[in-house]
Amino acid sequence: MQRRQIVKALGLSALASFVSGGSARASAPKAKSGWQNWSKSLAPSEAQVETPQTTAAVSRLIQTTKGAVRPVGSGHSWTPLVPADGDGKIIRLDAFGGVRSVNKRKKTAWLGAGARLKDLSPALAEAGLAFRNLGDIDVQSLAGATSTATHGTGKNLPCLAAEIKGLKLVTGTGEEMEISARSNAELLGAAQVALGSLGVLTEMEMQLVARHKLHRRVRFMPYTQVLEQAETLWQTHRNFEFFYIPFSATAMVITHDETDAPDTPRLLAESDDGVMQLKALRDYLSWFPFLRKRLLGAAIANAPEENIIGESWQLLASERNVPFNEMEYHLPPEGALEVLEEVRELIERERGDVFFPFECRMTAGDTAWLSPFNAGPRVSIAVHTHAPDAYDFLFTQIEPIFQRSGGRPHWGKLNSMDGQQVRAAYPKFEDFAKLQKQLDPQGRLLNPYLRSLLEPSR
Ligand SMILES: Cc1cc2nc3c(=O)[nH]c(=O)nc-3n(C[C@H](O)[C@H](O)[C@H](O)COP(=O)(O)OP(=O)(O)OC[C@H]3O[C@@H](n4cnc5c(N)ncnc54)[C@H](O)[C@@H]3O)c2cc1C
Repeated sequence: MQRRQIVKALGLSALASFVSGGSARASAPKAKSGWQNWSKSLAPSEAQVETPQTTAAVSRLIQTTKGAVRPVGSGHSWTPLVPADGDGKIIRLDAFGGVRSVNKRKKTAWLGAGARLKDLSPALAEAGLAFRNLGDIDVQSLAGATSTATHGTGKNLPCLAAEIKGLKLVTGTGEEMEISARSNAELLGAAQVALGSLGVLTEMEMQLVARHKLHRRVRFMPYTQVLEQAETLWQTHRNFEFFYIPFSATAMVITHDETDAPDTPRLLAESDDGVMQLKALRDYLSWFPFLRKRLLGAAIANAPEENIIGESWQLLASERNVPFNEMEYHLPPEGALEVLEEVRELIERERGDVFFPFECRMTAGDTAWLSPFNAGPRVSIAVHTHAPDAYDFLFTQIEPIFQRSGGRPHWGKLNSMDGQQVRAAYPKFEDFAKLQKQLDPQGRLLNPYLRSLLEPSR
Protein backbone atom coordinates (compact mmCIF):
# COMPACT_ATOMS: atom_id res chain seq x y z
CA MET A 1 0.00 0.00 0.00
CA GLN A 2 1.35 3.42 -0.91
CA ARG A 3 1.87 5.97 1.82
CA ARG A 4 -0.75 8.36 0.35
CA GLN A 5 -3.30 5.58 0.18
CA ILE A 6 -2.77 4.74 3.83
CA VAL A 7 -3.31 8.35 4.90
CA LYS A 8 -6.46 8.53 2.78
CA ALA A 9 -7.73 5.25 4.16
CA LEU A 10 -7.18 6.42 7.69
CA GLY A 11 -10.46 8.22 8.20
CA LEU A 12 -10.02 8.21 11.95
CA SER A 13 -13.48 9.66 12.45
CA ALA A 14 -14.46 6.04 11.88
CA LEU A 15 -12.54 5.21 15.03
CA ALA A 16 -14.85 7.51 16.92
CA SER A 17 -17.78 5.34 15.97
CA PHE A 18 -15.86 2.24 17.02
CA VAL A 19 -15.26 3.52 20.48
CA SER A 20 -18.28 5.68 21.12
CA GLY A 21 -21.68 5.22 19.69
CA GLY A 22 -22.14 3.51 16.35
CA SER A 23 -25.71 2.46 15.68
CA ALA A 24 -25.66 -0.59 13.40
CA ARG A 25 -25.88 -3.73 15.50
CA ALA A 26 -24.33 -7.08 14.74
CA SER A 27 -24.56 -10.25 16.73
CA ALA A 28 -21.62 -12.08 18.32
CA PRO A 29 -19.79 -14.57 16.13
CA LYS A 30 -21.51 -17.95 16.09
CA ALA A 31 -19.73 -20.91 17.63
CA LYS A 32 -19.06 -23.88 15.34
CA SER A 33 -20.27 -26.35 17.90
CA GLY A 34 -21.04 -25.99 21.56
CA TRP A 35 -21.40 -22.78 23.48
CA GLN A 36 -18.54 -20.28 23.12
CA ASN A 37 -17.86 -16.82 24.41
CA TRP A 38 -18.01 -13.72 22.19
CA SER A 39 -14.33 -13.56 21.22
CA LYS A 40 -14.06 -17.38 21.03
CA SER A 41 -11.08 -17.26 23.36
CA LEU A 42 -12.63 -20.17 25.30
CA ALA A 43 -12.90 -23.63 23.77
CA PRO A 44 -16.44 -24.70 22.82
CA SER A 45 -18.23 -26.03 25.89
CA GLU A 46 -19.66 -29.54 25.70
CA ALA A 47 -22.60 -28.77 27.96
CA GLN A 48 -26.08 -28.59 26.49
CA VAL A 49 -27.69 -25.14 26.46
CA GLU A 50 -31.15 -24.96 28.06
CA THR A 51 -33.63 -22.08 28.04
CA PRO A 52 -36.04 -22.76 30.93
CA GLN A 53 -39.33 -20.87 30.75
CA THR A 54 -40.23 -20.77 34.43
CA THR A 55 -38.55 -20.54 37.82
CA ALA A 56 -39.75 -24.08 38.56
CA ALA A 57 -37.97 -25.29 35.41
CA VAL A 58 -34.73 -23.57 36.55
CA SER A 59 -35.12 -25.30 39.88
CA ARG A 60 -35.67 -28.71 38.24
CA LEU A 61 -32.59 -28.25 36.06
CA ILE A 62 -30.43 -27.47 39.08
CA GLN A 63 -31.78 -30.45 41.02
CA THR A 64 -31.58 -33.02 38.23
CA THR A 65 -28.42 -32.15 36.27
CA LYS A 66 -25.47 -34.43 37.01
CA GLY A 67 -22.71 -31.93 36.24
CA ALA A 68 -22.41 -28.19 36.82
CA VAL A 69 -25.29 -25.84 35.99
CA ARG A 70 -23.99 -22.52 34.75
CA PRO A 71 -26.12 -19.46 33.97
CA VAL A 72 -25.08 -17.43 30.92
CA GLY A 73 -25.96 -13.94 29.74
CA SER A 74 -24.71 -12.85 26.33
CA GLY A 75 -21.37 -14.65 26.69
CA HIS A 76 -19.29 -11.47 26.68
CA SER A 77 -16.82 -12.58 29.36
CA TRP A 78 -13.34 -13.93 28.70
CA THR A 79 -12.85 -15.72 32.00
CA PRO A 80 -14.17 -19.34 32.03
CA LEU A 81 -17.12 -18.53 34.30
CA VAL A 82 -19.73 -20.16 32.07
CA PRO A 83 -18.38 -23.37 30.48
CA ALA A 84 -19.52 -26.69 31.91
CA ASP A 85 -18.51 -30.22 30.97
CA GLY A 86 -20.61 -32.74 29.04
CA ASP A 87 -22.69 -33.72 32.12
CA GLY A 88 -23.47 -30.10 32.86
CA LYS A 89 -25.96 -27.55 31.54
CA ILE A 90 -25.63 -23.93 30.48
CA ILE A 91 -28.80 -21.98 31.27
CA ARG A 92 -29.93 -19.03 29.19
CA LEU A 93 -32.48 -16.81 30.93
CA ASP A 94 -34.01 -15.47 27.71
CA ALA A 95 -37.52 -16.08 29.03
CA PHE A 96 -36.82 -13.91 32.08
CA GLY A 97 -36.87 -10.46 30.47
CA GLY A 98 -38.77 -7.21 30.53
CA VAL A 99 -39.73 -4.55 33.03
CA ARG A 100 -41.81 -6.27 35.75
CA SER A 101 -42.82 -3.28 37.91
CA VAL A 102 -41.78 0.34 38.36
CA ASN A 103 -41.75 2.58 41.44
CA LYS A 104 -41.65 6.05 39.89
CA ARG A 105 -41.31 7.82 43.24
CA LYS A 106 -38.21 5.87 44.26
CA LYS A 107 -37.00 5.52 40.65
CA THR A 108 -36.61 1.79 41.07
CA ALA A 109 -37.83 -1.12 38.97
CA TRP A 110 -37.93 -4.92 39.16
CA LEU A 111 -36.46 -6.20 35.90
CA GLY A 112 -36.09 -9.61 34.32
CA ALA A 113 -32.54 -10.79 35.09
CA GLY A 114 -32.10 -12.28 31.62
CA ALA A 115 -33.11 -9.06 29.83
CA ARG A 116 -30.48 -7.41 27.64
CA LEU A 117 -29.50 -3.90 28.73
CA LYS A 118 -30.18 -2.67 25.20
CA ASP A 119 -33.80 -3.87 25.46
CA LEU A 120 -34.30 -2.53 28.97
CA SER A 121 -33.14 1.03 28.23
CA PRO A 122 -35.91 1.95 25.74
CA ALA A 123 -38.53 0.23 27.93
CA LEU A 124 -37.34 2.18 30.99
CA ALA A 125 -37.32 5.42 28.98
CA GLU A 126 -41.06 4.93 28.41
CA ALA A 127 -41.47 5.00 32.18
CA GLY A 128 -39.29 8.15 32.40
CA LEU A 129 -36.30 6.23 33.80
CA ALA A 130 -32.79 5.25 32.75
CA PHE A 131 -29.72 3.42 34.05
CA ARG A 132 -27.40 5.92 35.76
CA ASN A 133 -24.50 4.68 33.68
CA LEU A 134 -23.58 2.06 31.09
CA GLY A 135 -20.36 0.48 29.86
CA ASP A 136 -19.08 0.53 26.31
CA ILE A 137 -21.67 -1.96 25.10
CA ASP A 138 -25.22 -2.82 26.15
CA VAL A 139 -25.76 -6.26 24.66
CA GLN A 140 -25.07 -7.97 28.00
CA SER A 141 -27.88 -9.37 30.11
CA LEU A 142 -28.64 -7.51 33.33
CA ALA A 143 -27.59 -10.50 35.45
CA GLY A 144 -24.48 -11.15 33.35
CA ALA A 145 -23.28 -7.55 33.46
CA THR A 146 -23.80 -7.11 37.19
CA SER A 147 -22.37 -10.51 38.16
CA THR A 148 -18.86 -9.43 37.04
CA ALA A 149 -19.15 -5.77 38.20
CA THR A 150 -19.44 -4.29 34.73
CA HIS A 151 -18.75 -0.55 34.81
CA GLY A 152 -18.68 2.53 32.62
CA THR A 153 -16.79 5.69 33.46
CA GLY A 154 -17.42 8.67 35.73
CA LYS A 155 -15.79 9.79 38.96
CA ASN A 156 -19.15 9.79 40.77
CA LEU A 157 -20.74 6.87 38.97
CA PRO A 158 -20.59 3.37 40.48
CA CYS A 159 -20.64 0.08 38.61
CA LEU A 160 -24.02 -1.36 37.59
CA ALA A 161 -24.01 -3.96 40.40
CA ALA A 162 -23.95 -1.20 43.03
CA GLU A 163 -27.42 -0.18 41.79
CA ILE A 164 -28.96 -3.55 42.74
CA LYS A 165 -31.53 -3.03 45.52
CA GLY A 166 -32.91 -6.54 45.52
CA LEU A 167 -32.87 -9.80 43.62
CA LYS A 168 -34.58 -13.15 43.29
CA LEU A 169 -32.57 -16.27 42.65
CA VAL A 170 -32.78 -20.05 42.55
CA THR A 171 -30.03 -21.38 44.79
CA GLY A 172 -27.85 -24.46 44.34
CA THR A 173 -30.48 -26.57 46.15
CA GLY A 174 -33.16 -25.44 43.71
CA GLU A 175 -34.90 -23.23 46.27
CA GLU A 176 -36.23 -19.78 45.43
CA MET A 177 -34.84 -16.97 47.54
CA GLU A 178 -35.25 -13.21 47.70
CA ILE A 179 -32.50 -10.89 48.86
CA SER A 180 -33.76 -7.34 49.28
CA ALA A 181 -34.60 -4.69 51.88
CA ARG A 182 -37.53 -6.87 53.03
CA SER A 183 -35.78 -10.23 53.08
CA ASN A 184 -32.20 -11.42 53.77
CA ALA A 185 -31.04 -7.78 53.51
CA GLU A 186 -27.67 -8.60 55.10
CA LEU A 187 -26.75 -10.71 52.04
CA LEU A 188 -27.27 -8.00 49.44
CA GLY A 189 -23.57 -7.04 49.38
CA ALA A 190 -22.65 -10.67 48.70
CA ALA A 191 -25.23 -11.15 45.96
CA GLN A 192 -24.53 -7.97 43.98
CA VAL A 193 -21.37 -9.38 42.40
CA ALA A 194 -21.52 -13.17 42.63
CA LEU A 195 -20.14 -14.62 39.36
CA GLY A 196 -23.28 -16.74 39.03
CA SER A 197 -22.16 -18.87 41.98
CA LEU A 198 -24.84 -18.16 44.60
CA GLY A 199 -27.76 -19.03 42.37
CA VAL A 200 -29.49 -18.36 39.08
CA LEU A 201 -30.85 -14.81 39.13
CA THR A 202 -34.36 -14.46 37.78
CA GLU A 203 -35.40 -10.90 38.74
CA MET A 204 -33.53 -7.86 39.95
CA GLU A 205 -34.62 -4.57 41.53
CA MET A 206 -32.45 -1.74 40.24
CA GLN A 207 -31.96 1.83 41.40
CA LEU A 208 -32.42 4.01 38.33
CA VAL A 209 -32.38 7.74 37.60
CA ALA A 210 -34.69 10.03 35.65
CA ARG A 211 -34.47 9.65 31.89
CA HIS A 212 -31.91 12.20 30.69
CA LYS A 213 -30.06 13.46 27.66
CA LEU A 214 -26.32 13.75 27.24
CA HIS A 215 -23.97 15.83 25.15
CA ARG A 216 -21.20 13.61 23.81
CA ARG A 217 -17.99 15.26 22.71
CA VAL A 218 -15.24 13.24 21.07
CA ARG A 219 -11.92 14.80 20.17
CA PHE A 220 -8.26 13.93 19.75
CA MET A 221 -5.67 15.46 22.06
CA PRO A 222 -1.93 15.03 22.55
CA TYR A 223 -1.53 12.16 25.01
CA THR A 224 0.74 14.09 27.39
CA GLN A 225 -1.88 16.85 27.61
CA VAL A 226 -4.56 14.28 28.45
CA LEU A 227 -2.40 12.89 31.26
CA GLU A 228 -1.91 16.40 32.63
CA GLN A 229 -5.60 17.27 32.44
CA ALA A 230 -7.11 13.88 33.34
CA GLU A 231 -7.93 14.73 36.97
CA THR A 232 -9.64 17.99 35.94
CA LEU A 233 -11.54 16.24 33.17
CA TRP A 234 -12.78 13.60 35.66
CA GLN A 235 -13.81 16.39 38.06
CA THR A 236 -15.64 18.48 35.50
CA HIS A 237 -17.43 15.94 33.32
CA ARG A 238 -20.17 13.48 34.23
CA ASN A 239 -18.37 10.85 32.17
CA PHE A 240 -14.80 11.15 30.99
CA GLU A 241 -12.64 8.47 29.44
CA PHE A 242 -9.85 8.30 26.94
CA PHE A 243 -8.42 5.84 24.47
CA TYR A 244 -4.68 6.01 23.84
CA ILE A 245 -3.94 5.13 20.21
CA PRO A 246 -0.73 3.07 20.32
CA PHE A 247 2.28 4.53 18.51
CA SER A 248 0.54 7.87 17.94
CA ALA A 249 1.28 10.03 21.03
CA THR A 250 -2.41 10.91 20.75
CA ALA A 251 -5.53 10.01 22.71
CA MET A 252 -9.18 10.11 21.82
CA VAL A 253 -11.01 11.94 24.59
CA ILE A 254 -14.70 11.28 25.20
CA THR A 255 -16.87 13.27 27.58
CA HIS A 256 -20.60 13.10 28.32
CA ASP A 257 -22.53 15.78 30.19
CA GLU A 258 -26.21 16.20 30.94
CA THR A 259 -28.08 18.68 28.78
CA ASP A 260 -31.60 19.82 27.82
CA ALA A 261 -30.47 21.04 24.40
CA PRO A 262 -32.33 19.66 21.36
CA ASP A 263 -31.16 16.37 19.89
CA THR A 264 -28.67 16.51 17.04
CA PRO A 265 -28.87 14.11 14.09
CA ARG A 266 -26.96 10.92 14.84
CA LEU A 267 -23.96 10.11 12.69
CA LEU A 268 -24.46 6.88 10.85
CA ALA A 269 -22.19 4.16 12.13
CA GLU A 270 -19.09 3.73 10.02
CA SER A 271 -18.66 0.18 11.29
CA ASP A 272 -15.24 -0.66 12.67
CA ASP A 273 -13.27 0.83 9.79
CA GLY A 274 -11.21 2.99 12.12
CA VAL A 275 -9.79 0.13 14.10
CA MET A 276 -9.18 -1.94 10.96
CA GLN A 277 -7.28 1.00 9.52
CA LEU A 278 -5.10 1.01 12.60
CA LYS A 279 -4.54 -2.66 11.85
CA ALA A 280 -3.54 -1.84 8.25
CA LEU A 281 -0.93 0.59 9.56
CA ARG A 282 0.31 -2.07 11.97
CA ASP A 283 0.51 -4.66 9.18
CA TYR A 284 2.45 -2.43 6.80
CA LEU A 285 4.51 -0.32 9.13
CA SER A 286 5.21 -2.18 12.35
CA TRP A 287 8.92 -2.15 11.44
CA PHE A 288 8.83 1.61 10.88
CA PRO A 289 7.45 3.06 14.13
CA PHE A 290 8.48 6.59 13.19
CA LEU A 291 6.53 6.47 9.91
CA ARG A 292 3.60 4.81 11.65
CA LYS A 293 3.52 7.65 14.17
CA ARG A 294 3.75 10.33 11.46
CA LEU A 295 0.96 8.84 9.39
CA LEU A 296 -1.24 8.46 12.44
CA GLY A 297 -0.49 12.06 13.37
CA ALA A 298 -1.45 13.26 9.88
CA ALA A 299 -4.71 11.34 9.93
CA ILE A 300 -5.61 12.45 13.43
CA ALA A 301 -4.95 16.10 12.60
CA ASN A 302 -7.79 15.86 10.04
CA ALA A 303 -10.23 14.02 12.27
CA PRO A 304 -13.24 16.21 13.00
CA GLU A 305 -14.49 16.79 16.54
CA GLU A 306 -17.80 15.06 17.19
CA ASN A 307 -20.60 16.74 19.15
CA ILE A 308 -23.83 14.81 19.58
CA ILE A 309 -26.86 15.24 21.82
CA GLY A 310 -29.28 12.41 22.52
CA GLU A 311 -30.73 9.98 25.08
CA SER A 312 -28.12 8.76 27.58
CA TRP A 313 -28.44 5.09 26.66
CA GLN A 314 -28.11 5.81 22.96
CA LEU A 315 -24.80 7.61 23.42
CA LEU A 316 -23.04 5.78 26.25
CA ALA A 317 -23.01 2.30 24.72
CA SER A 318 -21.92 1.35 21.23
CA GLU A 319 -20.92 -1.72 19.28
CA ARG A 320 -17.81 -3.79 19.08
CA ASN A 321 -17.89 -5.74 15.86
CA VAL A 322 -14.19 -6.57 15.55
CA PRO A 323 -13.58 -9.41 18.01
CA PHE A 324 -10.79 -8.80 20.50
CA ASN A 325 -9.34 -10.15 23.71
CA GLU A 326 -8.95 -7.86 26.68
CA MET A 327 -7.28 -7.53 30.05
CA GLU A 328 -8.54 -4.80 32.36
CA TYR A 329 -7.36 -4.03 35.88
CA HIS A 330 -8.89 -1.57 38.32
CA LEU A 331 -6.19 0.47 40.08
CA PRO A 332 -6.02 2.89 43.00
CA PRO A 333 -6.38 6.33 41.37
CA GLU A 334 -3.18 7.71 42.81
CA GLY A 335 -0.44 6.38 40.53
CA ALA A 336 -2.80 4.83 37.97
CA LEU A 337 -1.71 7.11 35.13
CA GLU A 338 1.93 6.24 35.84
CA VAL A 339 0.92 2.60 35.45
CA LEU A 340 -0.67 3.44 32.10
CA GLU A 341 2.58 5.12 31.10
CA GLU A 342 4.57 2.01 32.05
CA VAL A 343 2.22 -0.14 29.97
CA ARG A 344 2.41 2.25 27.01
CA GLU A 345 6.20 2.37 27.10
CA LEU A 346 6.45 -1.41 27.25
CA ILE A 347 4.03 -1.97 24.38
CA GLU A 348 5.60 0.69 22.17
CA ARG A 349 9.07 -0.71 22.92
CA GLU A 350 8.32 -4.42 22.49
CA ARG A 351 4.89 -5.02 20.93
CA GLY A 352 4.67 -3.49 17.47
CA ASP A 353 1.76 -5.86 16.81
CA VAL A 354 -0.64 -4.04 19.16
CA PHE A 355 -2.98 -1.62 17.40
CA PHE A 356 -6.19 -1.54 19.46
CA PRO A 357 -6.41 1.65 21.58
CA PHE A 358 -5.95 1.23 25.35
CA GLU A 359 -8.87 2.46 27.41
CA CYS A 360 -8.74 4.46 30.64
CA ARG A 361 -11.83 5.04 32.81
CA MET A 362 -12.81 5.82 36.42
CA THR A 363 -15.55 4.26 38.58
CA ALA A 364 -16.86 5.33 42.00
CA GLY A 365 -16.55 3.06 45.04
CA ASP A 366 -19.26 0.73 46.40
CA THR A 367 -19.79 -1.90 49.10
CA ALA A 368 -20.38 -5.21 47.27
CA TRP A 369 -18.19 -7.93 48.82
CA LEU A 370 -16.59 -8.94 45.53
CA SER A 371 -16.72 -5.59 43.79
CA PRO A 372 -13.26 -4.51 42.57
CA PHE A 373 -14.41 -1.00 43.56
CA ASN A 374 -15.23 -1.76 47.21
CA ALA A 375 -12.04 -0.16 48.54
CA GLY A 376 -12.87 3.17 46.90
CA PRO A 377 -12.89 4.67 43.41
CA ARG A 378 -10.70 2.96 40.86
CA VAL A 379 -9.10 3.90 37.55
CA SER A 380 -9.48 1.06 35.06
CA ILE A 381 -6.88 0.43 32.37
CA ALA A 382 -7.68 -1.98 29.56
CA VAL A 383 -5.39 -3.41 26.89
CA HIS A 384 -7.00 -5.11 23.89
CA THR A 385 -5.60 -7.37 21.20
CA HIS A 386 -7.20 -8.42 17.92
CA ALA A 387 -8.83 -11.85 18.49
CA PRO A 388 -6.62 -13.69 15.94
CA ASP A 389 -3.43 -12.25 17.50
CA ALA A 390 -1.35 -13.78 20.31
CA TYR A 391 -2.17 -12.38 23.73
CA ASP A 392 0.15 -14.28 26.07
CA PHE A 393 2.10 -11.10 26.64
CA LEU A 394 -0.92 -9.70 28.51
CA PHE A 395 -0.24 -12.31 31.20
CA THR A 396 3.54 -12.31 31.11
CA GLN A 397 4.29 -8.61 30.62
CA ILE A 398 1.23 -6.47 31.37
CA GLU A 399 -0.50 -8.25 34.26
CA PRO A 400 2.59 -8.14 36.53
CA ILE A 401 2.62 -4.35 36.16
CA PHE A 402 -1.06 -4.14 37.10
CA GLN A 403 -0.64 -6.52 40.04
CA ARG A 404 2.44 -4.72 41.41
CA SER A 405 0.35 -1.56 41.45
CA GLY A 406 -2.40 -2.95 43.69
CA GLY A 407 -4.81 -3.68 40.84
CA ARG A 408 -7.79 -6.00 40.95
CA PRO A 409 -8.87 -7.53 37.63
CA HIS A 410 -12.28 -7.20 36.00
CA TRP A 411 -13.97 -10.51 36.90
CA GLY A 412 -15.06 -11.07 33.29
CA LYS A 413 -11.80 -10.15 31.54
CA LEU A 414 -8.51 -12.01 31.06
CA ASN A 415 -6.59 -12.48 34.28
CA SER A 416 -4.67 -15.21 36.07
CA MET A 417 -5.77 -14.59 39.68
CA ASP A 418 -6.06 -17.86 41.63
CA GLY A 419 -7.94 -18.70 44.83
CA GLN A 420 -5.15 -17.48 47.08
CA GLN A 421 -4.71 -14.22 45.25
CA VAL A 422 -8.43 -13.37 45.28
CA ARG A 423 -8.49 -14.05 49.03
CA ALA A 424 -5.61 -11.65 49.51
CA ALA A 425 -7.29 -9.03 47.33
CA TYR A 426 -10.80 -9.29 48.83
CA PRO A 427 -11.14 -9.17 52.64
CA LYS A 428 -14.64 -10.67 52.45
CA PHE A 429 -13.85 -13.43 49.95
CA GLU A 430 -13.78 -16.13 52.64
CA ASP A 431 -17.21 -15.01 53.91
CA PHE A 432 -18.44 -15.15 50.33
CA ALA A 433 -17.07 -18.69 49.89
CA LYS A 434 -18.85 -19.80 53.09
CA LEU A 435 -22.14 -18.32 51.90
CA GLN A 436 -21.67 -19.99 48.52
CA LYS A 437 -21.30 -23.35 50.26
CA GLN A 438 -24.37 -22.66 52.36
CA LEU A 439 -26.54 -21.86 49.34
CA ASP A 440 -25.00 -24.55 47.14
CA PRO A 441 -23.76 -27.33 49.46
CA GLN A 442 -23.30 -29.85 46.62
CA GLY A 443 -21.42 -27.36 44.43
CA ARG A 444 -23.98 -27.78 41.63
CA LEU A 445 -23.30 -24.26 40.38
CA LEU A 446 -19.53 -24.65 40.29
CA ASN A 447 -17.43 -25.40 37.21
CA PRO A 448 -13.68 -26.08 37.49
CA TYR A 449 -12.76 -22.37 37.29
CA LEU A 450 -15.13 -21.35 40.08
CA ARG A 451 -13.99 -24.33 42.15
CA SER A 452 -10.39 -23.20 41.74
CA LEU A 453 -11.34 -19.81 43.22
CA LEU A 454 -13.66 -21.07 45.96
CA GLU A 455 -12.22 -24.50 46.78
CA PRO A 456 -9.41 -23.63 49.22
CA SER A 457 -12.16 -23.01 51.79
CA ARG A 458 -13.80 -26.41 51.22
C1 LIG B 1 -17.03 -6.21 23.40
C2 LIG B 1 -17.07 -6.15 24.89
C3 LIG B 1 -17.18 -4.92 25.53
C4 LIG B 1 -17.22 -4.86 26.93
N1 LIG B 1 -17.30 -3.64 27.55
C5 LIG B 1 -17.29 -3.58 28.91
C6 LIG B 1 -17.35 -2.34 29.59
O1 LIG B 1 -17.45 -1.28 28.98
N2 LIG B 1 -17.29 -2.36 30.94
C7 LIG B 1 -17.17 -3.51 31.66
O2 LIG B 1 -17.08 -3.46 32.87
N3 LIG B 1 -17.15 -4.71 31.04
C8 LIG B 1 -17.21 -4.77 29.68
N4 LIG B 1 -17.18 -5.98 29.06
C9 LIG B 1 -17.22 -7.19 29.90
C10 LIG B 1 -18.67 -7.64 30.12
O3 LIG B 1 -19.53 -6.58 30.44
C11 LIG B 1 -18.75 -8.64 31.26
O4 LIG B 1 -17.88 -9.69 31.04
C12 LIG B 1 -20.17 -9.14 31.50
O5 LIG B 1 -20.18 -10.01 32.58
C13 LIG B 1 -20.75 -9.83 30.27
O6 LIG B 1 -22.15 -9.95 30.43
P1 LIG B 1 -22.90 -11.18 29.77
O7 LIG B 1 -24.36 -10.90 29.81
O8 LIG B 1 -22.30 -11.49 28.48
O9 LIG B 1 -22.58 -12.29 30.84
P2 LIG B 1 -21.76 -13.71 30.67
O10 LIG B 1 -20.43 -13.36 30.16
O11 LIG B 1 -22.62 -14.58 29.85
O12 LIG B 1 -21.74 -14.15 32.16
C14 LIG B 1 -21.00 -13.41 33.10
C15 LIG B 1 -21.27 -13.94 34.51
O13 LIG B 1 -22.63 -13.72 34.84
C16 LIG B 1 -23.22 -14.91 35.29
N5 LIG B 1 -24.65 -14.89 34.95
C17 LIG B 1 -25.21 -14.65 33.76
N6 LIG B 1 -26.55 -14.75 33.85
C18 LIG B 1 -26.82 -15.04 35.14
C19 LIG B 1 -28.01 -15.28 35.89
N7 LIG B 1 -29.22 -15.21 35.34
N8 LIG B 1 -27.90 -15.58 37.20
C20 LIG B 1 -26.70 -15.64 37.81
N9 LIG B 1 -25.55 -15.42 37.16
C21 LIG B 1 -25.62 -15.13 35.85
C22 LIG B 1 -22.46 -16.00 34.55
O14 LIG B 1 -22.60 -17.25 35.18
C23 LIG B 1 -21.05 -15.44 34.62
O15 LIG B 1 -20.49 -15.76 35.88
C24 LIG B 1 -17.15 -6.07 27.68
C25 LIG B 1 -17.06 -7.29 27.05
C26 LIG B 1 -17.01 -7.33 25.65
C27 LIG B 1 -16.89 -8.66 24.95
